[in-house]
Amino acid sequence: MSPKEQNYENLAEGIIEKLAHRNMEGYYCKDREEANAKAKRFLTPDCSISWGGSETIKEIGLLDDLLEAEGEYELFDRTKPHPGMTEKEFYGKMVTADFFLMSTNAITMDGELVNIDGNGNRVACLCNGPSNVIIIAGMNKVVPDVKSGIARVQNIAAPPNAVRLQTNTPCMEYGRCTECLADGCMCCHTVVTRMSRTPGRIKVILVGEELGY
Ligand code: SF4
Repeated sequence: MSPKEQNYENLAEGIIEKLAHRNMEGYYCKDREEANAKAKRFLTPDCSISWGGSETIKEIGLLDDLLEAEGEYELFDRTKPHPGMTEKEFYGKMVTADFFLMSTNAITMDGELVNIDGNGNRVACLCNGPSNVIIIAGMNKVVPDVKSGIARVQNIAAPPNAVRLQTNTPCMEYGRCTECLADGCMCCHTVVTRMSRTPGRIKVILVGEELGY
């Protein structure tokens, strides 16, 4: 094991302890393959699954695996047409799924989750609705505290995401946050998850790799 890998493992151990005090379950996987398998082990036969926009769940191969296994699960994929349902009805299905998959924009060394959304559907599902929330996060998402987490989202994660999504926000052009109020702003809702009221509802899989933005 390289010093970097050992350090990730040491750091994750402390975060997992802090998560437990906050009623959240924490796990450590050394790489994306292990994290993919770990996430799938939580899923129950015929369960319903929805997910928030996340490069991480794509990068670990989880999204492709679920889409290939369609039929084994009830998937609510908001990128696909949903005939017979209005947007509002479809969102109702997403928000009441058995499992919601996402990453986190940042996680503090004390186990707080920091997430910033544009339209807020992802943070809404994190806060309440789905019976279980499975979060997969590369160790690059770890920050010392909430303030650093917000700075990370706005100056590290948002600019490349803005380029990817062509948001026409200042961060897309300048590579840093200007605290904009642009029409396409991706930073309308900031949610810090200090604790889960329902023990074990939120499961955090930390991965010893750099994943997502
Ligand atoms: S507030 Fe605006 S400029 Fe700052 S990161 Fe968010 S979208 Fe970009």
